Amino acid sequence: MLIVITGPSGCGKSTLANLVLEELENVTFSVSYTTRRKRDKEIEGEDYHFVSSETFEKMIQDDKFVEWAMVHENYYGTPKSALERKAMGGDLLLDIDVQGADLIREKHEETVFIFILPPLFPELRKRLEKRGQDSESIIQKRLGVAREEIKRYREFDYLVVNDELSKAVEELKSVILSQRCRREIREKEIMPILRSFAEGD
Ligand code: ADP
Ligand code: 5GP
Repeated sequence: MLIVITGPSGCGKSTLANLVLEELENVTFSVSYTTRRKRDKEIEGEDYHFVSSETFEKMIQDDKFVEWAMVHENYYGTPKSALERKAMGGDLLLDIDVQGADLIREKHEETVFIFILPPLFPELRKRLEKRGQDSESIIQKRLGVAREEIKRYREFDYLVVNDELSKAVEELKSVILSQRCRREIREKEIMPILRSFAEGD
């Protein structure tokens, strides 16, 4: 199953994703490619693959992406290699923007779409400022995009408000766990059980 999380920059997607990945088994993070500058605490190959625009454009030409988009004036893309790894089992968590979510919706079944909201607009600004990684003009741009993005919350299956972090983590984990129990997802797993019933003792 694919798990897509989307939400305004600074609402806490990376923070939530890291905690959920620590606490849940059988879910891995899809490491995107980006042309954005690396932030101090980020690790190449774990948070993102940081590449030049030339490299990214060559990858587009070579059809290396499941989806890609221009977000806040930088390229971001999900590599096909991440999905190939997922095919080997387990769930894959994608932290992507609304444009990426649209493309995944068109192409992939067995995906749950989760929109993360900050408690209030002024709190989003505070979080972006507190992160201390973006200039005032970049923060302004991100806040402008956020006001548009949030209007699209209806396109998502689940909404998580990241106010108190521990509560948001619990909600996100619950969404993933209940989604795993959906019949169309579980059906493959229960085949051996069904076969054993067909065979009897
Ligand atoms: P995103 O990945 O959505 O851009 P981050 O995970 O980088 O957002 O979070 C932005 C900032 O907000 C970080 O400094 C992070 O520590 C902080 N943050 C995340 N969740 C919460 C929360 N529930 N309460 C307060 N601060 C938070
Ligand atoms: P940031 O620069 O704050 O890490 O991310 C900015 C935005 O880009 C966020 O909304 C994030 O979800 C989105 N993003 C990150 N990786 C991808 C990706 O591979 N594809 C798309 N479409 N968006 C991405």
